[in-house]
Amino acid sequence: MSALEQSESTAASNGAPPAGGERIAVENPATGQVIGHVDDMGPDQIGAMVDRARRAQPGWEALGFDGRAQVMLALRHWFVQNRDRVVDLLVSENGKTREDALLAELFYICDALGFWAKQAPKYLADQRIKTHSMLLLGKKVVLRYRPYGVVGVIGPWNYPLTNSFGDCIPALMAGNSVVLKPSEVTPLTNLMLADAALECGAPRDVFQVATGAAGTGAALIDNVDMIHFTGSTKTGRKVAVEAAQRLIPCSLELGGKDPMIVLREADVDRAANMAVQWSMSNSGQVCIAVERVYVEEPVYDEFVEKVVARTRELRQGPPGEVGKVDIGAMTFPPQVDIVRDHVQDAVDKGAQVLVGGKPGAGPGQFFEPTVLTGVDHTMKIMTEETFGPTLPIMKVRDADEAVRLANDTRYGLNSSVFSKDVAHGEQVARRLHAGNACVNDALMNYLALEAPFGGSHESGLGARHGEAGIRKYCATQTLLVTRFAMKREPLMYPNSAFKAKAFEKLMVLMWGRKPRKKR
Ligand code: NAD
Repeated sequence: MSALEQSESTAASNGAPPAGGERIAVENPATGQVIGHVDDMGPDQIGAMVDRARRAQPGWEALGFDGRAQVMLALRHWFVQNRDRVVDLLVSENGKTREDALLAELFYICDALGFWAKQAPKYLADQRIKTHSMLLLGKKVVLRYRPYGVVGVIGPWNYPLTNSFGDCIPALMAGNSVVLKPSEVTPLTNLMLADAALECGAPRDVFQVATGAAGTGAALIDNVDMIHFTGSTKTGRKVAVEAAQRLIPCSLELGGKDPMIVLREADVDRAANMAVQWSMSNSGQVCIAVERVYVEEPVYDEFVEKVVARTRELRQGPPGEVGKVDIGAMTFPPQVDIVRDHVQDAVDKGAQVLVGGKPGAGPGQFFEPTVLTGVDHTMKIMTEETFGPTLPIMKVRDADEAVRLANDTRYGLNSSVFSKDVAHGEQVARRLHAGNACVNDALMNYLALEAPFGGSHESGLGARHGEAGIRKYCATQTLLVTRFAMKREPLMYPNSAFKAKAFEKLMVLMWGRKPRKKR
């Protein structure tokens, strides 16, 4: 079945009205060919979808963790069985290499399905709270988590599965219904999953996919009980305002400008390999890509030389057979203009382009793997998110200067430090103002699903992964249970001078002593 037929059949299975309004064309960025069309859903369609999701939710919650886990594990099996179909669609709508689709998307999703199926009951188990208050002696206090109801998930185009469906998994395991709005640039793979979920035993309407652009996303926020958003900081700000208007919780995974620091005692080979790998992977369209590098003077020349050599070896082109291409297409046409603008701005201000520097040959959209030196913080390429295959490298005097420059940003997503003196590397990493930091590594922290991954500053609010990554999809309820209930307790009416004095004396006894100064 073609992507076009797929999208139409899935829209029908979602119960959406037949296409009548605007249709959005989906292009293969590596060839420029249109590969499908999806509806640009309006507020009425979204309202109806969320109503259906709301009706389906109690039954889904009632299935319990085990019942929901069964569906997640069936989905994992479905992904493995349908891997070629999924990879084909991902590659054709996003332009990424088959390797990236397989490892950074399919492998991640399969891992995440099993992880949340297993961990959700643990992370969301009732928690007995031991309270310090002597006034609550003998009473039981319990914290419990319950699903919000209908969660909306809005995703970007760079990782259509990992950063869209990936965020639905914990929301579903928590017992919510989910309406996912993938990016209008790459909606097809997720659309296929609405049918897959049904096939794998999810009750109808528990997981639905809403296609459309900004207006569809806004309509989703208008209807759901909680919103998870992954995308640019600019849109994230709007999402936060909309969520605030409705007083619904939101979690935001936004943009970044991740620094890498190479200290003088670093393994320069490893640092250079990592820098090239994680600045160019997925054409640099990774929120946690290495976007700028600071190298201590003594190893600067060696580092630049190695980076240039490795970058020249990269093979770029339309993704085809496995093992033939290292870098695919740029997914979103305006992104090519942003990358070109950042490179031109740097060159105008005195930077040198050592490799690449311009868009690649068509008919698809490409930008050559690009290495720049002679850069500084007056340039966009060092301060704004480029989101392209660029690696600007700056020489620094020492670690202090590297840390100062790394922290000179409005973002705070990921970061990395390279040093063979691991203790020193860790010391430097701890000084970075970022939600995540790696020592002698980059990006791999994303795979530690047990650990929260989230941005600081303008890179986001909240986290995915870890207990925080599923508890955010739940409201809490604190239960206080009095088991041995007296007919009358000392705090009850009537007020009396005796009781008031007794409490006053107790207070003076407990907290009346002047605190001693610590020597
Ligand atoms: P974007 O902000 O343009 O769009 C993201 C999604 O928001 C799309 O589905 C879009 O249709 C929707 N949208 C647009 N306007 C909206 C509105 N007013 N209300 C509701 N929804 C709206 O981002 P993009 O260009 O698709 O993705 C690239 C960005 O995503 C980069 O900045 C990248 O760093 C970021 N990103 C972050 C992470 C992370 O985990 N922190 C992961 C992947 C991508």
